[in-house]
Parts: sequence; C-alpha cells; structure tokens
Amino acid sequence: MVNISGKTRDSLISERDAFNEALVGWGSRSLRDLPWRSTRNPWRVLVSEVMLQQTPVRRVEPKYLEFVELWPTPENLTQAQLSDLLKFWVGLGYPRRARNLYDAAHQIVNVHDGAVPSSLSQLMELPGVGPYTARAVMVFAFELQVGVVDTNVGRLLARWCGGPLQPKAAQELADDLVPAGDPWLWNQALFDLAASICTKRDPQCTQCPAEAWCSWRGAGQDPADGSAGVGKKQSRFHGSDRQARGKLMKGLSEGPVRVAEASAVMGLSDDPNRCARLVDDLLSEGLLTIKDEVLLLGDLLQ
Ligand code: SF4
Repeated sequence: MVNISGKTRDSLISERDAFNEALVGWGSRSLRDLPWRSTRNPWRVLVSEVMLQQTPVRRVEPKYLEFVELWPTPENLTQAQLSDLLKFWVGLGYPRRARNLYDAAHQIVNVHDGAVPSSLSQLMELPGVGPYTARAVMVFAFELQVGVVDTNVGRLLARWCGGPLQPKAAQELADDLVPAGDPWLWNQALFDLAASICTKRDPQCTQCPAEAWCSWRGAGQDPADGSAGVGKKQSRFHGSDRQARGKLMKGLSEGPVRVAEASAVMGLSDDPNRCARLVDDLLSEGLLTIKDEVLLLGDLLQ
C-alpha cells in the first residue's frame, strides 16, 4: 500500500463519503455569494477564472460584472480591439492574461464555432489556459467530475492527509474524492473552506466540518509545509518590474506615450536600460506597438 502522506490512499478513500457529506452540507449553508457562481455559462466561467488567476476576489468582482456586460460572448470580444480590452484590464494587473483571453476568444470562434470546449485537452489548447483553469471550467461550467486544486485546497488536503503533497498527488486525491452527484458544490465548498477556515496562518479547526477526518487539526508541525506552492511568498510589488510595467500600461490607456518619455512614466528615469528591457518585453508579448518613436496600446495600428 502506497502512503501518499500520513494516511494511505485506501484509508482516505474509505472516509470519502462521510467527509463529502459534511463538506457539501457545510458548503450548501456557507458558500460565498460571488457573481460567477450564479452562472454555468462557460464563457463567463472562463473569464472569471482567468481574472482570478492572479487577482484577489474583491478586485475581480466589479471587473467581472463590467466585462460580461461589455463582451457577453467570445464573438463579442473578437469584434473589439485588443487595445479596448487592455484599457479595460488596467487595475487587474498581469495584462498578458488579457492578450491571451483575446486570442482564446478568436480560437473559440474560429475553431469551436463560438462555444467554449468542455474537454481538458481542448481547453488547454486555448491561449493562457493551463490545467488548473481548464479543470475549473470543466467543473464550474460543465459540472464534470474532476477536482480543482489551487494553493489553498492543496494546503487543506495536505493537512487532512497529515503530510506534504506534491501537485500530482494532490490532484489525484481530489479527483478520487470528488463525488459524482455534485462536483460543482463539492469544489466550491472546498475552495471556501480552505480560504475562510483552513487558512494558512490561523486555521479555525473547531469550526471546520472536516475536523473529524483531519490528521492535523492545528497541533504541531503543519503538514502542508513542503507541499508544492504552499508557503511561497508573493514577490514584493513596490519597485518591481510588474509595477513599472503596470504604470506604463496605465499611462498608455490614457493615450500614446513617446518612447523618450516611457522611463518617466514607468518611474525608471534613473534606469534607462531596465526601461528599455521592459518595453521590449511588452512589445514581444504583443501588448504594445510602436510607431514613429511613439508607444501605443495593443493593436491600435491594426
Ligand atoms: S481541522 Fe483544521 S487543519 Fe484540518 S482541515 Fe479543518 S481547519 Fe484545516
């Protein structure tokens, strides 16, 4: 018998029904009311998942609602200019996601007749869609029986098992546990439990519906330490390349920027080499164009 951590896989699976009943029961009473949870529209779910990849829920909520008003279908987005989307994206950060979403909309229209595909392989062929986002769309739009494991869920599963879990083991465990009856609610409940009760620093074990099955319960060394992705600190934003890129994208959303002025806009007047490197990166990512020594957002020349 293979030990995936503190418990054997068989012992975990044997506890599955009782654990799932407690989890789904908790979820049906406690799930956060989020706008993308009231839809199964695959395009809306994909948009929400792309936004949530690197932006907190509270900042995504208003932008998601605005986005689905502006571009309710992939076809609607293909009729927009990339620059419109990049202007809209200011404030969400990581604008490469917007470029990818724009390209994904074209692929959905051109290859899939405007319908977001439901298979893992076809979803992962869309620009910017990795295994996590693909699985999230499979569950939250199509209600297919797969587990969706983000960092928080990985931490919870490691604690429940009593030992660190690498991504493959965490994914396999989630896939083995997810019930056929309601994979949507099961995954959403696991998300909220991991985000609100089984938190990184202060797990509220006495309020946890999974306490009876948990190997850790907050006592001693955290089994999640050493799990893939757990404990990674987000890199500092102030003074980062990300901040400088964001300043330029914001500046460009208000109008063209002369190349000679880019370093000032980016707050890099004392570091022209770094400014040039970042502008080159944005150009190669297709987020800017350049004409007559003037920088323009996205596809203004198209
Ligand atoms: S009992 Fe505590 S450590 Fe275990 S899953 Fe619940 S909140 Fe997390």
